This record gives sequence, structure tokens and C-alpha cells, in this order.
Amino acid sequence: MKRVYNFSPGPSMLPLSVLEQAAAEMTDAYDSGQSVMEMSHRSADFTPIIEKTEAALRALMGIPANYTVLFLQGGASLQFSMIPLNLAAPEPGFPKKKATYVETGIWAKKAAEEGALYADVRVGASSHDRAYRVIPAPPLPDPEDAYYHITLNNTIVGTKWTDLPQTGSVPLVADISSCILSEPLEVSRFGILYAGAQKNLGPAGTTVVIIRDDLIGQAPAWTPRLLRYDIHAAEASRYNTPPCYGIYIIGLVLEWLKGLGGVPAIAELNRHKAALLYAYLDHSKRFHSPVEKSFRSLMNIPFSAAVEEPEQRAKLEARFIREAAQEGLVNLAGHRLIGGMRASIYNAMPLEGVQGLIDFMERFEQNWDRTS
Ligand SMILES: *Cc1c(COP(=O)(O)O)cnc(C)c1O
Repeated sequence: MKRVYNFSPGPSMLPLSVLEQAAAEMTDAYDSGQSVMEMSHRSADFTPIIEKTEAALRALMGIPANYTVLFLQGGASLQFSMIPLNLAAPEPGFPKKKATYVETGIWAKKAAEEGALYADVRVGASSHDRAYRVIPAPPLPDPEDAYYHITLNNTIVGTKWTDLPQTGSVPLVADISSCILSEPLEVSRFGILYAGAQKNLGPAGTTVVIIRDDLIGQAPAWTPRLLRYDIHAAEASRYNTPPCYGIYIIGLVLEWLKGLGGVPAIAELNRHKAALLYAYLDHSKRFHSPVEKSFRSLMNIPFSAAVEEPEQRAKLEARFIREAAQEGLVNLAGHRLIGGMRASIYNAMPLEGVQGLIDFMERFEQNWDRTS
């Protein structure tokens, strides 16, 4: 069997044991004589699967009882629309409600732009002028804000929030797509948390939304039913057919995480993996991390080659990415808008993968000047 270390920002690696269990259960899951893919979403076979997945998520994240967990479709990107639609969009003839966004990266910017279709959006702070290498000082909320939106981990630029903004009674809403379950998080500080599954949870196609109950049921009457939190909550994520297989795999990933010791244990491993790579980058004369130390992500680590001349740098980085892939270290290219390299080291990336990358970088530095 061939397995690579996949440094993709998403979809990303899944634990091998999860894939093996899914393979073993592919044609007959839980003695049902069916694959989970074939099960009715309302059947007695599937109901315990979605319930177990939700219970495991609640236990691992410590989700309080006054929060509802939803398994939806449309990716994190559809939440960019659903949040303002449900919390800030007006009935006809009324003004849009206000919302504050902090622009800390490309996803945060997209969220704010989509939000402005349905909400009176104020971008209260942005680190755009510093190439998103820092998290800006958070603005105070407007007391009239329907919500205050942040992107907790910035997947493309490799930063994360360390101190949450103080928003008083304004609900704090966070995109946690690329950091869910990577470190402890105090759910009660938030009104809504949301994450596309394909980074730290499971396959693409499922989006997890964790929403405080008092925020459900505020959508204007014209909101499409499929985009209303109250409809999904009333039907326990089964208003229409949910992404059943994805929910099942998320359940297996959560079981795996529980077996490792839960969020505290994975957080310690994540800090160790990231510290190894950052220490290497900070000591290297050939590679460097562009991100200010106090804001560095544990999950997404961009880096570039220290070469002045842009064309030469691009050539060298292309060789790095190509030769790494030949050694089974794949998907190390930076985001298409930014270039350079990026190692995404989510929960399922083993320590050996990070060590393998560092070993490769050391060897690459030895032949830095070789013409390709
Ligand atoms: C990947 C990502 C998204 C986009 O997710 P989709 O599920 O593809 O819509 C949004 N926000 C963040 C922080 C991401 O990492």
C-alpha cells in the first residue's frame, strides 16, 4: 500500500485507521447488510450514526446544552450567506441589521463581502495592508450589531487569533473551518461556530454549525427554507437528505480523536508539530516564515525560499514542491494568490510527516544552488 503525507489545506489527510475501518464496513455497516451510503437518512440504521456523531462532538468540544449542532451542506462558504440571512436580513421595508467583521485573510474578506448582501456590514479592522501577517487589534462592537464575525484560523495566510475580541452582548460568530478540534475552545464565548468538514473533521460535503439556541428563529419570512437554521434545527439536520456518509466518517474521526485522549492530547501534539517546523524555519538561512510570531497558526504554515529575485525564487520553489512530491510529501504549494509553500498539518498529520518534511528541507538546502 502506498500512502503519502498530504500537506493539502483541504481536503486533507484522514487517519489511516479511520479509512481502514470505513473500508471494512463499506458493504456491511453495523450488521445492517448495507453500506452507510445506501441507508435511508430516516432509518433506524442511520439515526444512531448521526446521534453518535453529534454526541461525540458535544463531548469533545464541551458544547453546552443550550447550543444546537447542525450537519449541513454547502461548505463553510454557504455559512457566509446563512449567518447574515438568519441574523441580520430584514423583512421588506426595514433596514438591514448591522454586523462587524474583522478582515484577517482571504476567507474573512469573502465572508464580509457575502455578508454585505444581507447585513449592514462594517469591516471594523483589517490587516490587508500588512499582507495579513498579523491579526489586527479588534475593534469594539457596535452595540446595535446583530453579530460580530471573525475567522479564528486563517488557512491561506497562516495566522490565528490568540485572544478573542470582547463583544459584550453582541454574539461572536467564528469560522473555525481550519482549526476545529485542534485546540481547546470555550464554546460559550460564541454565538455561532461553523466549519467545513474537509480540514479537520472528515470528507468535504458536510458543514458543522454550532449555534446558541436564542439565535435560531430570527430569519425573515422570505429566507429560502433550506437556508434557515430553525428549519434544520426542528428537523435535527434531516429536513432534506443530509450528507449521510460524511456524517458517518466524521463520527469515526471523532472516535479516533477520543481514543488519542481528546482535544487536550491532540492540542499538545499539534503544538509540538508546529513548534518543530517553526523552529526549523526560524533557524534556516534558506527558508523563512512570513508570519509574525505571536499570530502563527498551528495548522497552516506558509513559508518561502529566501531568494531575492522573484523569477529565480519561483523556479526554486517549483523545484522544491516537485522534489518533495517525489518523496511522498505532497501538496506543499502555497495558495494560488500568494505563492511560495504552505504545509497544512491538521490533526491527522502524524508527527513523522512533519519530521519527514524537515528532513527533506535539510537535504534540499544542501543542494540549494543546483540548477534544475
Ligand atoms: C476552506 C475554508 C473555507 C471554505 O470552505 P468551503 O467548505 O470550501 O466553502 C472557509 N473558511 C475557512 C477558514 C477555510 O479554511
